[in-house]
Amino acid sequence: MTKLYLAIPCYNEEEILRDSASKLLNKYNTMMSGGKITSDSKIVFIDDGSKDRTWSIIKQLHEENSIFQGIKLSRNRGHQNALLAGLMTLKDKADAVISIDADLQDDINAFDEMLEKYENGCDVVYGVRSKRETDTFFKRFTAEAFYKILNRMGAKVIFNHADFRLMSKRALEAFSLYKETNIFLRGMVPLVGYKSDIVTYERFERLAGESKYPLKKMLALAWEGVTSLSIQPIRMITALGAIVFAISLIMIIYSLISFFFGSAVSGWASTLCSIWAIGGLQLLAIGIIGEYIGKIYLETKARPRFIVEEYLDD
Ligand code: UDP
Ligand code: MG
Repeated sequence: MTKLYLAIPCYNEEEILRDSASKLLNKYNTMMSGGKITSDSKIVFIDDGSKDRTWSIIKQLHEENSIFQGIKLSRNRGHQNALLAGLMTLKDKADAVISIDADLQDDINAFDEMLEKYENGCDVVYGVRSKRETDTFFKRFTAEAFYKILNRMGAKVIFNHADFRLMSKRALEAFSLYKETNIFLRGMVPLVGYKSDIVTYERFERLAGESKYPLKKMLALAWEGVTSLSIQPIRMITALGAIVFAISLIMIIYSLISFFFGSAVSGWASTLCSIWAIGGLQLLAIGIIGEYIGKIYLETKARPRFIVEEYLDD
């Protein structure tokens, strides 16, 4: 049996928290009586500096039933940090932790399949949305563009996977070696490695309250994803510099030909060529400097260089 913890970040969720808690409690009771999880498994809410009654509801829940626990952050630090706080606090207590949003838009019935895969040896099980019919066209379009652009930019993420996933104790411990402060969890978890699998589910609409992820925060998250996982944008500058410089070489040849055949206004060729050549060289130089900055950047993250999965000794 697995000692399963749930990590649920909450920011101003007073409208939905009680409802979510009772659904989760039901689910946990069924799983406990079915002998799937131990009776000391917990449901943990992380209050991300809410300004409403979220924390007092969490306290009440905890008093009513010790299956509910709460972690309160000193101020609002954003969904990713709240989730990280939960995962890192719980990693020593649980066999496995599932992270899920407080609005339960992700299907809690996927817990069973996640658990099954975990018991069959997976250390990370990603929840993947099967379709996006309940989303508005705008949300669907922006969200899918988000995954595609991220992958193009070198931040490898699992398509249509948000932060609904199961991680084993071992995976969480490995993950805790990633000390960086700019975090984009769904891009970082795959870096850990170990055996992983996906579980597909249908995502529901938010029942109450409103999305805490308006477009502005989504864009910020996407930008965080690219810049904290990849130095690809710097490479693009280098490539652009090389292209511009190549164009300038072609222009030089072209203007020399025009010069010798006398069809150019005097001064035109030399001015134009130098503008392109200097521009290209500057971009190239910035790209090269950027390449070193990129290296420094990756070094400062001090990521683990390897994680040993097994060692057959003696
Ligand atoms: N959340 C958080 N801190 C924030 C913003 C959001 O902990 O600063 C939590 C929120 O309570 C919810 C989850 O992150 O549990 C996802 O937010 P939401 O459901 O609003 O996002 P959406 O599903 O619309 O993308
Ligand atoms: Mg939501």
